[in-house]
Amino acid sequence: EALNKILDIKGSIRVFCRVRPFLLSDRRRIHEPISIGLEKVVVKSVGIRKEYRYDKVFHQAATQEDVFVEVEPILRSALDGHNVCILAYGQTGTGKTFTMDGTNNQAGIIPRAIEELFRQASLDNSSITFSMSMLEVYMGNLRDLLAPKVASRTHEVAAKCLNIQTDPKGMVEVEGLTQVQIPDTAKAKWWYAKGRRARSTSWTNVNETSSRSHCLMRITISRHGDDSKAKAQVSKLWMVDLGGSERLLKTGATGQTLDEGRAINLSLSALGDVIAALRRKRGHVPYRNSKLTQILKDSLGKPLHEQKIKNFSSIEIHIAPSGS
Ligand code: ADP
Ligand code: MG
Repeated sequence: EALNKILDIKGSIRVFCRVRPFLLSDRRRIHEPISIGLEKVVVKSVGIRKEYRYDKVFHQAATQEDVFVEVEPILRSALDGHNVCILAYGQTGTGKTFTMDGTNNQAGIIPRAIEELFRQASLDNSSITFSMSMLEVYMGNLRDLLAPKVASRTHEVAAKCLNIQTDPKGMVEVEGLTQVQIPDTAKAKWWYAKGRRARSTSWTNVNETSSRSHCLMRITISRHGDDSKAKAQVSKLWMVDLGGSERLLKTGATGQTLDEGRAINLSLSALGDVIAALRRKRGHVPYRNSKLTQILKDSLGKPLHEQKIKNFSSIEIHIAPSGS
């Protein structure tokens, strides 16, 4: 449902599809694509032919570089003062983390974006500074991934610490969220790696949560003009590795896993609803239905009461040629 709603978006929201290659671990090929075009993917699922349209489709052989080329204009928008958001959506195992983080030899969007932001800032005349925050949304709770001693915190404690606030201008802030200065690319990557580690080791009594929580990384860009007394222009770049969008009934989940899956499904469908409402360009946008959409509120659409701020958002969608 969420996927279909998002697929229908055009305009300031762009949807790309990346089809990943088959892996040896892929046993079943239920959704094997029957054709992959430049803007269209046709799949056959349990005998039914389905056609999906995107702004662009990356086929199996597309490199990390090919994908990043499409992201660069979004970084430019962020540096120009717009709030932007890059989201990876898809089932577990379809390549969200590969696309966002990549591997040592095949850097993904996030390390490339860090390099590119610093490169562009160095060419700019005004002085630009960057800072970073990272948080995880799990079962409706927020966890600060860059907080000191994060591993010893339970998520109940962290959830209490983090409230989402919206100022009169419509700017969203997660109260108490750690924000670290990043003076160079090395430090930025160091902090990012630290946040990723905190994500994977922190939750008690849960083994593998990465597919059942959302991981959000924010780079805040401050641009100071010549006048040192003037307020800096601040914009945000969000890069989000969303929780897996798999269907619960099909995976036979029970207990804790089922609850986690439900929470993910609810927030992904809330995200779909928000994007669908933004696309209609009028009427109520139901941001309040999930923590995820509350946090991203000022970076997903143009706040009505702050018309000066233009937002340019991008959604990435991944489907795998296999899996259920
Ligand atoms: P997700 O984060 O969506 O659960 P992963 O990014 O972990 O999925 O990808 C699952 C596996 O597929 C990993 O082993 C990853 O290295 C591999 N993979 C994903 N996309 C690609 C790709 N485009 N090319 C090569 N391997 C890929
Ligand atoms: Mg992942």
